[in-house]
Amino acid sequence: MNSPADIEVSPISVVVPLYNEEKNVQPLVERLAQIFGKIGHPWEVVFALDPCPDRTEDVIRSLIAEGHPIRLVRFSRRIGKPLSLMAGLEHARGAAVVVIDADLQDPPELIEEMVRKWKEGFKVVIAQRTSRKGESFLYLQCATLFYQLLEKIGDVHVPRNTGDFRLMDARVVREICRFRERHGFLRGICASAGFSTTLVPFERDPRFTGKTQISFLGALNIALDGIIPFSRTPLRMMAVLGGILSASALALGIIWFLYALVAGFSGQWSVQLFCILLGLSTGIVVGCLGIVGEYIVRIYEETRTRPLYIVDEIVEAENARPSHHGHMR
Ligand code: UDP
Ligand code: MG
Repeated sequence: MNSPADIEVSPISVVVPLYNEEKNVQPLVERLAQIFGKIGHPWEVVFALDPCPDRTEDVIRSLIAEGHPIRLVRFSRRIGKPLSLMAGLEHARGAAVVVIDADLQDPPELIEEMVRKWKEGFKVVIAQRTSRKGESFLYLQCATLFYQLLEKIGDVHVPRNTGDFRLMDARVVREICRFRERHGFLRGICASAGFSTTLVPFERDPRFTGKTQISFLGALNIALDGIIPFSRTPLRMMAVLGGILSASALALGIIWFLYALVAGFSGQWSVQLFCILLGLSTGIVVGCLGIVGEYIVRIYEETRTRPLYIVDEIVEAENARPSHHGHMR
């Protein structure tokens, strides 16, 4: 845990994933320099760079040559935003780490408020969008649907309308780096890690320059990575569906049989019986898939290397601690 003295001397790291952002890098660094000058806190930027065809890397290198507090971490191939973010976290050395996009959609000025909340004692400060500019109606509808779904069926609580833009205490970052999950869905991982969390509202700007680097399919993939590793519900739905199907077919079969006893079997009784048996067997098959699903959920949970729990703090009386010379060592 950081002591107040630590907080004053260690820098705050800003982790930025990049791909084709040549025109945004310099304005971003300038705005960061201005903000941290105002806050009066040492800082560094960790640029997590997906190798790209434009001049992003050259611009960063020349900024480094000018003496800006930048660390460039370039990957061997394009690994995509979620993973580069996680890698960036591993290379951040600050007492707190801010995660922000390179395109200035997340206003760096909000960092001032985030740092204030962090100094008040919150370990996670998440920026929550009150509006989003420069994005299509369809995209926004899908995003709303995604947040509602995540809220309803997610095993952890991911606050609505929050992206990756956030500040995390170094302690939280250390814990997050222990979650070696390939999807790199920071919002879910951060929520799984826990710790005292608060929200700060902001209006999301349009991109400063350039166009989005994440396609609709790419965003859909990120959304799936937000649901599947953080919810048992999709697999559980099979067992429920199987149960409903079997029960309906069984009820229909009983009604059909009782009716036939009273009114007599129609000439097409074999077709009717076949339909009922088909419904029943489909229900049984889907239900069995649900049982398999329960095993898969558990296998998935065992194979993930998520920590079982994270201790935030241990509080005990001075005299309850073992002495350095005691026999408890
Ligand atoms: N990005 C990245 N690797 C990629 C695609 C994007 O590091 O393969 C970065 C990008 O440079 C930006 C952030 O991820 O800093 C968000 O990307 P973008 O603005 O294109 O996505 P959107 O805001 O539309 O979700
Ligand atoms: Mg963007």
